[in-house]
Amino acid sequence: MPSSPEPSAKKTWCPTCGKLLEPDVVLCTRCGRHLATGHRGRTLVEAREGDHVAVAWIAAAAAAVGAGVAWGLLAVYAGAPLRYGACAVGLAAAAGVLLAARRRNPRLPFVAFTCTVAGLMIGKLIAVVWIVPPFALEQAQDQRRMYETLVWEMQADKRIDEKTAGTLVDDEASIDDSETGRKVKRAEAMIQERLGAMSADERRQLQLRIARAIRDRTSLLERARLLLSPWDVAWFLAAIALAGLLPRLHRR
Ligand SMILES: [Zn+2]
Repeated sequence: MPSSPEPSAKKTWCPTCGKLLEPDVVLCTRCGRHLATGHRGRTLVEAREGDHVAVAWIAAAAAAVGAGVAWGLLAVYAGAPLRYGACAVGLAAAAGVLLAARRRNPRLPFVAFTCTVAGLMIGKLIAVVWIVPPFALEQAQDQRRMYETLVWEMQADKRIDEKTAGTLVDDEASIDDSETGRKVKRAEAMIQERLGAMSADERRQLQLRIARAIRDRTSLLERARLLLSPWDVAWFLAAIALAGLLPRLHRR
C-alpha cells in the first residue's frame, strides 16, 4: 500500500534552469544542478560531447601541425614559399576534425580554425628561418664572392695560410717579399683553376653555401619581410575558410 506523501514534500523549481522538479529530487535532470549544493555537474550527453570535441582537438592539432611542418620543410627544400600549401594545412585540420568527431558540434569549426592558424604559423616560421631567399642566391652568383669564398675555404682547410688568404682577397694588397709573392701567385692560380674546372653541380653547391651564409647574416625580420607577400594573406584566408567550412559538412 503506497504511503501518502509527506505534507512538506511538494514540487520545486530548479533555481538554475527553472525546471519543475518532483519532491525529493537531488539533481536537476535538465541542467545538472545539485539542488542542495548548487554545484552544476555535466550531464552524460554533455560529457560525451566534450569527449568528442577533445578528441577532435587532438586530431586536428596533430594533423595541422604535421601538415604545417611538412609544408615548411617542402618550401625550404624547394627554395620557394609554395604559398598554396597553406590550403593543405586547412584541409588537414578539417580532415582531423571530421574523422575524429563522431558527430556535428558547433565548436568543431572553431577547433579546425584554431589548429589551422597554429599549423600555418609553424609552417611559415620554418620557411622564414631556413629558406634560402632568392636575393641571396642572386648575390651568390657573383664571381668575386665565389672566388673569395674559395680562398677562405682553402684557408679553413689549412691549404693556404692566413696571410696568403688575406692578400688574395685584398685588391690593394702589396706583396713585400718574394716568398709571400710566390705563395700568393701559386694559390691564386690554384683557385682560378679550381673555379674554372668546377662542374655545374659543384658551382651550384658553392653558390648555395654562399647564399646560406648571406641568409644567416640577414635578420629574421628582414627575411620575413622579403618572403611574405599579400599572396600569403590570401592563401592564409583560403586555408582558414576551408578549415571553418568543412567541419559543417559533418553528416551527423
Ligand atoms: Zn535545472
